[in-house]
Amino acid sequence: MSSEKILLKIYNGQAVTPTGILNNATVLVRSGIIESVAEGNLGAPGAIEIDAKGQFIAPGLIDIQVNGYNSVSFCFEGASKISEEFKATTLTVSDVKKATEGLWEEGVTTYFPTLTTNSQEVLKKNFGILAKAMEDPSFLGSIPGFHLEGPYISEVDGYRGAHPLEHVRKPVWSEFLELYKASGEKIILITVAPEVEGAYDFIRKCRELGIVVSLGHHNGTAGQIKQAIDNGAGLATHLGNGCAGTINRHHNPIWPQLADGRLRISFIADGFHLPPEMLQVFYKTKGVDNIVITSDITSYAGLPAGIYKIKDGKTVEKTADGNLLFSEGGLYGSASPLRNGVAHIMKVSGCGLVNAIRMTTLNPAFVHNLDDRGVLEKGKRADLILFTMENEKMIILKTIVAGKEVYSKD
Ligand SMILES: [Zn+2]
Repeated sequence: MSSEKILLKIYNGQAVTPTGILNNATVLVRSGIIESVAEGNLGAPGAIEIDAKGQFIAPGLIDIQVNGYNSVSFCFEGASKISEEFKATTLTVSDVKKATEGLWEEGVTTYFPTLTTNSQEVLKKNFGILAKAMEDPSFLGSIPGFHLEGPYISEVDGYRGAHPLEHVRKPVWSEFLELYKASGEKIILITVAPEVEGAYDFIRKCRELGIVVSLGHHNGTAGQIKQAIDNGAGLATHLGNGCAGTINRHHNPIWPQLADGRLRISFIADGFHLPPEMLQVFYKTKGVDNIVITSDITSYAGLPAGIYKIKDGKTVEKTADGNLLFSEGGLYGSASPLRNGVAHIMKVSGCGLVNAIRMTTLNPAFVHNLDDRGVLEKGKRADLILFTMENEKMIILKTIVAGKEVYSKD
């Protein structure tokens, strides 16, 4: 047998590509890289064979906004069971591994750990830990970089969301560079408010480092949003959320972000954060090429339904359908993994599976110049999922990261 031995052959699947679904398809993988994707049962002597049994094969999901998973939080204390003493946790590399393995089970093969507004000390420390994790070969390259959401956002209630006011601040380049250095220069996405003092200059400098700048948690005027985009902002963070509950019908931050064709948008499609009509309008206005679906999940994702304690003795309830309710009213972030966003956007927009997969794989990869992944194509990383769609749900059957099987439902 030659050294060109095929290592992995997945056959009898419906391969989801950006242009359509290939029936009875085979995906061949050599040394962790996709070698071919084609219709028919391709011969590959000596390969390890996986029969997809007619189910879907797609690139692994890419989530650009993950605050934590399975009781691990990247920035704050993780979830505590009601029966346990609340314990402030310190992030470790093994915590990051636990979250990553949990995400693999959800079909997420690439994600950006997201650090939200906090003290410089905590951000620096946790970026350092995350930087160590991403270099660890056992993560199989699932973390290409990080998302810093805040602390340079609106300090106004509503727009600020759950970000703690005491740590919201104006951008100072030298301070940001400390974080950038701590992250191993791997902050690849930052969410800022366009109206904060110094924002335009800050955005320009981020762009010079190749960082994608996203507008979020802000109450920018049309003029401020335009100037931020002129200076290089290219994305909107969870559009429709991180916004006050009551806004002016004509002059609010949503219209200008929808109207400017240069701005791509991300949104949370978990079925709880936005009404279906808003998702329909976002989808129709921006079009499939300009949308990235995110989960914005926290440490409560991956945990069973129930009541959990938070820091000050208050509680949150995770419902059986994955909603996360604060005891004092309202949502307490998201606990619904990205695969639920795939199913929900299909249901409310009628976009079809090909487009839903595009908005959760190719688009997030493209926006962040991750040209080694995000599509079933020769030469890309073999980050693959096998799944089925049942009763408007996406069920992950198998996850493969860089050619290695990391999860199997059976
Ligand atoms: Zn947010």
